[in-house]
Amino acid sequence: MTKIALMTLGCKLNYAETSTYERGFRSAGLEVVPYKQSADLYLINTCSVTATADQKSRNLIRRVHRTNPEAKIVVTGCSAELRRAEIEKIEGVWKVFGCKEKAQVVPDCLAGLGFPAETVTADAVFGAYSSGERTRSFLKVQDGCDNYCNYCTVPYARGGSRNLPICECVRMAREIAAQGVKEIVLTGVNTGDYGKTTGESFLSLLQALNEVEGIERYRISSIEPNLLSSEIIDWIASGTKFQPHFHIPLQTGSDTLLAAMGRRYTTAFFSGKLAYIRRVLGEGVFFGIDVMVGLPGETPELFEETVAFLRQIRPAFIHVFPYSRRPGTPAADMPGQVDEEEKKRRVAVLEELCLQLHSEFVASQKGTRVSVLFESKEKDGTMGGYSGNYIRVTRPYDPALSGKIVELTL
Ligand code: SF4
Repeated sequence: MTKIALMTLGCKLNYAETSTYERGFRSAGLEVVPYKQSADLYLINTCSVTATADQKSRNLIRRVHRTNPEAKIVVTGCSAELRRAEIEKIEGVWKVFGCKEKAQVVPDCLAGLGFPAETVTADAVFGAYSSGERTRSFLKVQDGCDNYCNYCTVPYARGGSRNLPICECVRMAREIAAQGVKEIVLTGVNTGDYGKTTGESFLSLLQALNEVEGIERYRISSIEPNLLSSEIIDWIASGTKFQPHFHIPLQTGSDTLLAAMGRRYTTAFFSGKLAYIRRVLGEGVFFGIDVMVGLPGETPELFEETVAFLRQIRPAFIHVFPYSRRPGTPAADMPGQVDEEEKKRRVAVLEELCLQLHSEFVASQKGTRVSVLFESKEKDGTMGGYSGNYIRVTRPYDPALSGKIVELTL
């Protein structure tokens, strides 16, 4: 039996796509093995969001070839799209698939291995969801982005904003429910921009998914602030399966830099949005915020503006990224580039602040009644799970509770 090992770098979208390739190879009769084991074929789903991610992708390809010189290597993902020529030259690389060729990955590889060839039409959007985890699944509903923020390579890698029709998303959600999974995390590149290519709305998608039997909870993995409308928030507050947990990219708390980076909101709009959500869904809402430090032009004073703004809006979690200069983006040629040591210092400042804000949020929820979805894994005699508002809870391991939603007081 032909053995294949699959590896993923990068975002939840990549995980959902690799998982979908894996199901395709498995159903064709290949044996899927862990990547530490020797295999005939390795698929590496790459990331190109930062220079480091690109480097990691190339290093992984080289390492796989060094340890398995006979094996065929297939490379997919954003690095394969943006650095195709370089990647095709790396020893051991057999096939490279860009971001618009995802539907060809499995059939082309199978044909190359001598399996009966199957012709596929190049889908505008490759449908995908993650499987293998018994508790939650990442469901891809949208791909690409039309925003071209000045620091970002994603639109160049993944193409324009496009989405799967609602019926296709519902079909995949039903497949996930049939596997006994209770929670779905909606994922995409610019998820809230859903509907660009089908004329359907993001709210209609949420309403259709809310009716899928067997799925008890939904989360939205990330959504741009200007796409999280009060209509959507009011609907979520009307008693649905969508959890009080939002991950919203801010990037910077300085209006000067928001404008310079081509972001589509101001800090006043952003704080107003959070205040509205807290008014409608209560103070127990969990906000995760993406922040990028060291953007070109970020003086120490502008950085302090970001720190002050974060203290004001009190997110429960800050996902901090150091700005990575990406060739071909407008920001790469902007003046006022910040040196790497200073970026590291600013990352450390925000990570410290994140710890403080997170513990304040958890403390503020003490004594509240929540529902926790317990995961199946047992670790040192305990098991863990997340509440609706994304607070991690652990308890003594009880197999009867794995994959179950339990009401409890924090
Ligand atoms: S919205 Fe996000 S994915 Fe799109 S260009 Fe901006 S940062 Fe990149």
